[in-house]
Amino acid sequence: MPWPASADLLAPLAPWFDRVRRDLPWRARELDAPHPDPYAVLVSELMLQQTQVATVVPYFTRWMAQFPGPEALAEADEDTIHKAWEGLGYYRRARFLKAAAASVAAEGWPGDLEGLAGLPGLGPYTAAAVGSIAFQWPAPALDGNAFRVLARLLLIEGDPRRAAADLRAWLAPALAAHGPSRMTQAIMELGATVCGPTPACGACPLGDRCAARLAGRTGAIPPAAKRTKPKASLLWLVAFEAEGHLLLHPPAAKGLLAGLWRWPALGAAEFPPQAADQEPAPLQAWPGWTQVYTHRREQVSPLHLRLGTRFKAAEGLRWVSLADVGTLPLGKRDQRLRGLMATPGQPPLEAPDLAALIRACAAPSG
Ligand code: SF4
Repeated sequence: MPWPASADLLAPLAPWFDRVRRDLPWRARELDAPHPDPYAVLVSELMLQQTQVATVVPYFTRWMAQFPGPEALAEADEDTIHKAWEGLGYYRRARFLKAAAASVAAEGWPGDLEGLAGLPGLGPYTAAAVGSIAFQWPAPALDGNAFRVLARLLLIEGDPRRAAADLRAWLAPALAAHGPSRMTQAIMELGATVCGPTPACGACPLGDRCAARLAGRTGAIPPAAKRTKPKASLLWLVAFEAEGHLLLHPPAAKGLLAGLWRWPALGAAEFPPQAADQEPAPLQAWPGWTQVYTHRREQVSPLHLRLGTRFKAAEGLRWVSLADVGTLPLGKRDQRLRGLMATPGQPPLEAPDLAALIRACAAPSG
């Protein structure tokens, strides 16, 4: 590695971070001692995976009031946990957090990085982040922000993730010299507030030593990842209501949507439009939206259909009383329809054939 020593190169980051650090509810004031509440660090790191700081702050505050320690979280039931996580997305994180809390409540905190990495939901990055911020272990935590900062600073060509092992070995002495918690958070902070995709080099404490800046190549390092835009699928998201009940899918035990209740979502292509001479269906609609996920997009058309009587629900669907629906954990897309139902809708301009919609959600007769 022909790179300058990390403790020297990164030295200006430490006083810079002490000066500009954002006051975040999970951050300890004292950065030279172990964190007084490692559980708070664990919660924040799990919440911050895939989610912006500004979104996480209110969730973190509510979560810590509701589940103030590993024991309280370990004892909570899954519906309560999913409800508290509702809106943050990637609900697997909530279940991992509960499982990790149960392990800590039963056996105490692991004593080394390997033990932390063995807790549910903690990959190498999260284990290193918790190890350095909570316990002051000199374990470099490399996430997308850190890779971007270090790639520019050291002028690493190509994907910096390929140099992960070398970067970890290079970074460890800087953590030991300037404090693991301070350095880890300083790199995160620089990536989040200064060295973003479009870097603000004029405000950077490392501007005079950054190889990409000195070479005029900050725009090309690291190279942008190639992404193909996923095609949007069209679907009807339908709230069937009858006799004071709504029809929902109960949570799956596993997978991305585990723990979450869902409205029936029916591929629009499979449902013919209502014939022009058909009696208008008792339907309400609201303007649709595009729901964006990591690898797919959905063009969602929300519908609310009021029926006189309940039909026998198909396997995998259940009628739930109106009073209970408000308390169920739903994903972002499905929360949005629940929220819309409290507002007046319109008869839809285009509607799917009502009988076909019901057939798709009813148990086969006979
Ligand atoms: S000088 Fe610019 S590119 Fe280099 S680390 Fe600082 S913000 Fe990033």
